Formats: sequence, structure tokens, C-alpha cells
Amino acid sequence: SCAARASFAMAAASGLGGGEALRLSAEAGAGALKLHKGDITVWSVDGATDAIVNATNERMLGGGGVDGAIHRAAGPELVEACRKVPEVKPGVRCPTGEARITPAFKLPVSHVIHTVGPIYNMDKQPEVSLKNAYTNSLKLAKENGIQYIAFPAISCGVFRYPPKEASKIALSTAQQFSNDIKEVHFVLFSDELYDIWRETAKEMLSQF
Ligand code: ADP
Repeated sequence: SCAARASFAMAAASGLGGGEALRLSAEAGAGALKLHKGDITVWSVDGATDAIVNATNERMLGGGGVDGAIHRAAGPELVEACRKVPEVKPGVRCPTGEARITPAFKLPVSHVIHTVGPIYNMDKQPEVSLKNAYTNSLKLAKENGIQYIAFPAISCGVFRYPPKEASKIALSTAQQFSNDIKEVHFVLFSDELYDIWRETAKEMLSQF
């Protein structure tokens, strides 16, 4: 909208030493998008109902990458909570593009939202599945009163989604929830991913 303006400020999130804040809307009460470089397992917002998103697999019982890091930091109660999530078919607790919520145990946040992004080379419509993973995570956050949420770069690790394309879907979908969630953060694990997310955010701002 032409009423929207962009501003840059430092983000105050515990554990990560700030980060860059890209406020994509100037309308009263509208949410903000914030970008950080670092480890999502140390992210939280003091005193808030907050959640980190886990990029997991359909089995939902842990794995490598960010999934492994989240389970290590949360402690063994997290896998027990995941095991209690009902299977929708044998071995599948969370189909690709869907999301589930659990407590966060030893993590500094209130909740973990588990989602499954597409395996880029195996999914017939990876862009639809990736958008669904972000949308369903944000819907679940809204339903659970979560005001602050942090995402990793879903599918950009072993699932091999091209990061530039992924960043456009991630940021545009987050923006659609700016009236529902106070702040959507992205915690990018590498300089390369951080720079890609930052460039895409700037390109999106120039479209306003
Ligand atoms: P996927 O299977 O969805 O590709 P991965 O865990 O392999 O999931 O990768 C998703 C993204 O998470 C990758 O960009 C990877 O670099 C990143 N990542 C790995 N560990 C962490 C962490 N501790 N915090 C934030 N991001 C992480």
C-alpha cells in the first residue's frame, strides 16, 4: 500500500545481540520483520509468548541441521513430546507443508512450531509446499497467541531449495501476517543466507 513505509532499526531479541529490523509497514499496530545472523536455538524475546520454528521432516523425531540443534538445546523431553503427536499415516506426524506445536522445554522460548518444507528436487510444486510451511506455521502461531516468532531458512539446507527463491516466499508470506503477529524474525545461519534475505527484503521494500 502507498501508506506503508520502511524503516531500519536494531532489533532487541535476547541471545543474538540484536540484528537488523526491517519494518515493512508503518500502519498503527502493524508487525515487523527482523533479520538476524546466528543460531536460532538462543533466540527469544524476554517476557513474551514466543516460538521458534523447527525445519523438521515428516517423521518429526529429530534429524540433522537445525532440527538436530533444536532437539539438543531443548533436551530429550522434546522428542518425547513429538512422539505423542499422532501419526496421520505410518511414520508421518507432519506432512510436508503442515505444522505442529509443542512446548519448548529447555529452550528459552515458550513453544516450538515444527514444520516440514519441501525436498526441492522431489516435490512437484516446491514453491507451494514452502509457502504452505510458512503459512501454516504462522497460522498455528496466531491460534496459540504467539506474538513473536523466529524462522530458520526452511528447506535451504539438505532439502536444497535455492535460497534466493526461498527468501522471496519466506518474506512475502511473513508480511501477510503483519496484522496478526507482532514480530516475525528470521535467524539465518550463514553470511550467505543472511545477505540473500537482506537483499530480498530491500527489493520488497522498494515495491511499496
Ligand atoms: P532442511 O531439511 O529444511 O533443508 P536444514 O536443517 O538442513 O533443513 O537447513 C535449514 C536451514 O537451517 C539451513 O539454512 C541451515 O544452514 C540452517 N541451520 C542449521 N542449524 C541452524 C541453527 N542452529 N540456527 C539457525 N539455522 C540453522
